[in-house]
Amino acid sequence: IIELRNVSKTFKLGLFGSTVVQALSDVSFDVKKGEIVGLLGESGSGKSTISRIILKVYKPSSGQLLFRDKDITNIYSASFLKNYYKHVQGVFQDPYGSFNPRRTVLEPLFDVVNNYELTHDKVEAEGMIRQHLEMVGINYDEVLHKHSHELSGGQLQRISIARALLVKPDLIVADEPVSMVDASTRVDILNIFLDLKQKLGISILLIGHDLATMHYASDRILVLYKGQVVEEGPASILLDPLHPYTKMLSESTPSIDKPWEEKIKYRPGKVEFAGKITGCPFADRCPYRMDKCITQAPPVITKDGRKVKCWLYE
Ligand code: SF4
Ligand code: MG
Repeated sequence: IIELRNVSKTFKLGLFGSTVVQALSDVSFDVKKGEIVGLLGESGSGKSTISRIILKVYKPSSGQLLFRDKDITNIYSASFLKNYYKHVQGVFQDPYGSFNPRRTVLEPLFDVVNNYELTHDKVEAEGMIRQHLEMVGINYDEVLHKHSHELSGGQLQRISIARALLVKPDLIVADEPVSMVDASTRVDILNIFLDLKQKLGISILLIGHDLATMHYASDRILVLYKGQVVEEGPASILLDPLHPYTKMLSESTPSIDKPWEEKIKYRPGKVEFAGKITGCPFADRCPYRMDKCITQAPPVITKDGRKVKCWLYE
């Protein structure tokens, strides 16, 4: 459905654009039909930059964005975008921020029906919205006159998903869709995505930082660190990570059967957009660091159907 080929993105910051930050460097992956691909990383790792590139909010600084094998990197006409958003939809992190507090929560769904001219008939529009709300477990009549402050984050997130579904998209880019939702309803939202994949063949790019969530819902996972893909493979790689960064994420997840003392000591550090990185992006924190890690970019090693970018596996 969608493919990124060697995509890099730099931002110029500061008064005269004097500070250059490398938000993504040489990222390549695709999302196939009916697949949930997880993008795992902490804030500042470049996950949302990827989502904005796919949603055509940002343009890559280099590399290509392909939709169904067609290079769409430089296409931004209004007619193209309108058609593109029938195929590619986004669901975002903050369910309250996604709704205008002055409007009822279903008004944006009626907007979609009107803007995309899904029907001109009011009764048919209601039926369409009712049906899509049912798919995500929301009763139309119960929310019809509600405003966002009267609903829970989980309910709003379901309505956001229903809104995205109205145009019958091929791909939903879900940027941290459960991180602001109560823990008890997170799995229900993830199950909606699994259902959409299984029943409708919809592809999902699931962006998040929580290992358990990502492992639960994803078919494949890409681990991002400072704008680079450092590890990639089936979701099971999270149970048996190879890259020291993925190991660190996994070991810093509290577990009831694992005493904290057993953890390897990682150097503290902050994931933030940096200038051009020479060597390994994780070198400043890695307990396995060798001299060449600082000066030479590690190779991507393919091993048992997975990939890891680290000198340890050369
Ligand atoms: Fe650690 Fe070196 Fe591997 Fe980077 S390349 S993760 S510094 S061992
Ligand atoms: Mg983000």
